[in-house]
Amino acid sequence: MDLHIFFLPFLAPGHMIPMIDLARLLADRGAKATIITTTANVPLIQPTIDLANNSRHHQIQLLAIPFPYSESGILEGHENITALPNPAIPPEFHAAMCMLEAPFRQLAKDHHPDCIISDFHYPWSASLARELGIPRLLLHITSFFSIILLGVTSRLKPHESVASDEQPFVVPEIPHRIEMTRSQLPGFIIGTESDLHKQLDDSNRSSYGMIINSFYEMEHDYVDQLKERGDMKLWHVGPVSLRNQDLHDKVVRGDKASADCDRCLSWLDTRKPRSVLYICFGSLGRFTRTQLCEIASGLEASEHPFIWVVRYGGEPSEWLPEGFEERVICRGRGLIINGWAPQLLILNHEAVGGFVTHCGWNSSLEGASAGLPMITWPLFAEQFFNEKLIVDVLRIGIAIGVKVCRCKEEERMMVRREEIRRAVNELMGSGEEADGRRERAREVGKMARRAVDEGGSSYNELSSLIEELLSLKAGKTQSGKAGE
Ligand code: UDP
Repeated sequence: MDLHIFFLPFLAPGHMIPMIDLARLLADRGAKATIITTTANVPLIQPTIDLANNSRHHQIQLLAIPFPYSESGILEGHENITALPNPAIPPEFHAAMCMLEAPFRQLAKDHHPDCIISDFHYPWSASLARELGIPRLLLHITSFFSIILLGVTSRLKPHESVASDEQPFVVPEIPHRIEMTRSQLPGFIIGTESDLHKQLDDSNRSSYGMIINSFYEMEHDYVDQLKERGDMKLWHVGPVSLRNQDLHDKVVRGDKASADCDRCLSWLDTRKPRSVLYICFGSLGRFTRTQLCEIASGLEASEHPFIWVVRYGGEPSEWLPEGFEERVICRGRGLIINGWAPQLLILNHEAVGGFVTHCGWNSSLEGASAGLPMITWPLFAEQFFNEKLIVDVLRIGIAIGVKVCRCKEEERMMVRREEIRRAVNELMGSGEEADGRRERAREVGKMARRAVDEGGSSYNELSSLIEELLSLKAGKTQSGKAGE
């Protein structure tokens, strides 16, 4: 197949990882893929690409451009969102993303791609693609459900008709009865954050189309609703994480250098099937020491084995309850990973039976694809919408009960150990409700695998995307010849 695609991921794991998965899926179908990132992000991607090129003889290349430190004012070494103090993206970082246009433009002129698949954070790639006469597709890293709810709440502002931040309102114009509070909505909807999001959204509307990492069967009402709106061409091609079936793919995904795969695997191998709870708040989910101590105490009190991923700069002794190490860790009841965890490896291990997630879209979908019931603990951005999909629509999760959407850990609502213990026991225990939830989660996992298998809904969408790109290219070649 003669199709060359440029991929431009945003500099955060939650955006880079699914874009690389998508690049490999397209390379599996014969496309030539070129991924563009900044120099310090290369080591996070290179191992995955080397593996794909060596094991499947793909033609994926990675091109690096320098990060514009001096022009943007970003501190040296802060080349990925994970290096910033919290997930709120500062204006300087956005400015740096705009400055990537010039070197990217040069690469596009040198390599003549047939298409650009870009993240939402590079609105300039839409006008550049137009200038080059090629399509620009947006890879949107969220669910159809969240896109619809974001749209409805921004447009109709149902949160303005309630008396307080805590009073629930029903989200209008959607097929399910979903209640939310104003405090759960992201700041850019309620007007407490800059309207940068809106500006990005406006420029992104001029894309040729949008690719979404989701699958039809999981949220068909919302896929249909968005398609009916007809604003833009849409392709749902997920879960793209299911591209990683091989152990090696799972091991190198994300941040190979700091993942402790052997330790996780040998620990999990000794546990009973479906007995372990996995707790991870994505690549950016940090907590105060008090909250970390409450989580540790809740996990200890629940008496279920666990793997808990923590992001904390100092020593665990600064927040672990007295004697926790001896009582829990040394006795093999739990594993704490302070750093990067091989998430797909863990979620898909047969010993794992539940997932505590912050409802980042990738993690939500990865948990659902692994057929796991979840405890939802959203933190910021559109994660509270994803929680509603998991808990109220799919009915495969239990909400821990967080009501406040905040980027900064010190501003979040405290979840006490008793609440954590209760939710863990409910999720991991037996009984009609827990079994029903488990069964539904298993079904969602099966649907996800069917969607990406040959002939499945996402497989077919990817085929139609490729056909469309090829026919656009053929049209361009024809009109080029006609003009000669
Ligand atoms: N991830 C991982 N190990 C970690 C933390 C995260 O592999 O220790 C991966 C996870 O599998 C997912 C991505 O990083 O693919 C995080 O994306 P998500 O949308 O869930 O959350 P974000 O980090 O963007 O808040």
